[in-house]
Amino acid sequence: MSKRENTYQPRTNLVHGGTQRSQFGELSEAMFLTQGFAYASAEQAEGRFIECPDDEFIYGRYGNPTVRMFEERIAMLEGAEAAFATASGMAAVNAAVTAPLKAGDHVVAAKALFGSCLYILEEILPRFGVEVTFVDGTDLAAWKDALREDTKLVFFESVANPTLEIIDVKAVSDLAHAVGAIVVVDNVFATPVLSRMLDRGADVVVYSATKHIDGQGRCLGGVILGSRDYVRGTCETYLKHTGASISPFNAWVMLKGLETIDLRVRAQAASSLKIAEALQGHPKLERVIYPGLKDHAQHDLCMEQMQAGGTVIALDLKGGRDEAFRLLNAMKIVTISNNLGDAKSLATHPVTTTHQRLSEEQCDALGITKGLVRLSIGLEDADDLIADLKNALDAV
Ligand SMILES: *Cc1c(COP(=O)(O)O)cnc(C)c1O
Repeated sequence: MSKRENTYQPRTNLVHGGTQRSQFGELSEAMFLTQGFAYASAEQAEGRFIECPDDEFIYGRYGNPTVRMFEERIAMLEGAEAAFATASGMAAVNAAVTAPLKAGDHVVAAKALFGSCLYILEEILPRFGVEVTFVDGTDLAAWKDALREDTKLVFFESVANPTLEIIDVKAVSDLAHAVGAIVVVDNVFATPVLSRMLDRGADVVVYSATKHIDGQGRCLGGVILGSRDYVRGTCETYLKHTGASISPFNAWVMLKGLETIDLRVRAQAASSLKIAEALQGHPKLERVIYPGLKDHAQHDLCMEQMQAGGTVIALDLKGGRDEAFRLLNAMKIVTISNNLGDAKSLATHPVTTTHQRLSEEQCDALGITKGLVRLSIGLEDADDLIADLKNALDAV
């Protein structure tokens, strides 16, 4: 069942898409733990180095049959021509933004970014002569002002972490395309289940597969999706020579994760809405931030772009760090961890962990308060989670 003859619904493709069986007819996809590939003749080796079809392989750093199955399956879900899997989400972000750039190029990025994404854009790219302008991603006038004739690339997270602002992918893509810039979207929070960002105008979508694609907290991985030219040309050339390839084992875990991602993400999003509604107006909370709630400033955009509010909620506690710590320490089911998209519900205090590198002014500017706790909602019973959170709030 190849992408070319894809007439099935996403849930069918998530179970069968990209499957290649060996001569043994194994039912579950095989894990090919091999660095290299044997050629039947010197001529075959020569031919493969001249042109290597999608289902033939040269070396593990370039590609692997298990990795290819994962790439085909996620490409089908995203509606992309091609995918390249990487060792981590950051390897995917790094290649997707670095591969097309050279000294003298200009980049515009949203300023609310995952710490390591910010490091690449703020520290690494300028060292090699790339100029980066940061904007408030929700402010279309700011994007318009920052974009220039020499802007080569635009980068943002479709849902900002941890403040959960939604960036209008279609509007920003239209502005970027007007100056000929490539639009690269880190789409982790929106997930490939709830959104189709390539259809909304993004040129390239990247994921940390570590999050919802694995979904059970086991392996690191990442993936770049987009046109065949961009992924198999620009990015693959860069990646295969710089070595950020995913291990076949991790790719196999991600491939099996895709079989259940639709069910998991929809269940997690439904629980998230139920929990956000149950906690709204709680006396210990300044605010419940969840894009699926009607009071979220970009609720309509969220529903248009993502079908649902996603699997992450931010609670802004009255008070600050002490109150947030008391909540975290009183929870019994929700576990303190900075990961997200896991089957287990997880909570983190961004100011003292994931966003510790930011100054107080930067946190204030991004709305990351000392009382903010980010919740990644898992697959536990929603009523148990509500009870756990309410009990913990009582302890605050
Ligand atoms: C986790 C995450 C990353 C990095 O992914 P890794 O797999 O940890 O390298 C990048 N962007 C976002 C939005 C993330 O949540």
